[in-house]
Amino acid sequence: MTGVRLGMGMTSQRTRGRLIERLRMQGVADELTLQAVGAVPRHLFVDEALASRAYEDTALPIGHGQTISQPYIVARMTAALRLSGPLGKVLEVGTGSGYQAAVLAQLAGQVYTVERVGALLRAARARFASLGLHNIRSRHADGHNGWPDVGPFDGIIVTAAAREVPEDLLVQLRDEGRLVVPVGTHQQALLMYRRRGDTVTCERLEDVNFVPLLPGDVV
Ligand code: SAH
Repeated sequence: MTGVRLGMGMTSQRTRGRLIERLRMQGVADELTLQAVGAVPRHLFVDEALASRAYEDTALPIGHGQTISQPYIVARMTAALRLSGPLGKVLEVGTGSGYQAAVLAQLAGQVYTVERVGALLRAARARFASLGLHNIRSRHADGHNGWPDVGPFDGIIVTAAAREVPEDLLVQLRDEGRLVVPVGTHQQALLMYRRRGDTVTCERLEDVNFVPLLPGDVV
């Protein structure tokens, strides 16, 4: 299906294989995460005009001033979430193109994802449907407050940079759950929080560059 639309034939699978090798060399060691990235056709999550660049390890524009994250960062965040073991319920804040949610859907029982821009969410939902990703539920809302009705979560991933860690998200983690979130304005750090009983620890993973987490929702 995809090969015909893009005229890429088998190239797409082979190019994806090269991306996986590159991620492995960059230090992503979790094989299941690498398999999940390898299973998702990233070229279907960007505009056709950018499809030929979909397997470069770079962020790309998806409209509305937003970007699909760099594959390395997607893999790094996914692998970090998995450090406490198999993932049942996972929450993503910032659906964007839907790519990160599609990667998580390969690894988690159920993925919940929240997006504030309605137009992006509608496009992402169409991709989930055409790829048969039935374990993703999505919601049009400001994700600062998480998704309290369905929590607690084994993992929460935020794909836009918060000024400070949203407390509401930390309380929606189950015991041993992890929250991976970029925090900061100009200088951002990817932080990994881990809840153990009533204690929360935080580890800094690396410097990153995300679009900002914004308040409210738009059509
Ligand atoms: N995970 C996405 C990356 C999208 S970029 C992907 O794989 O393509 C970050 C996304 O976060 C944007 O789509 C932006 O609209 C969204 N966003 C920003 N602030 C938000 C908020 N408060 N609640 C929900 N989504 C938000």
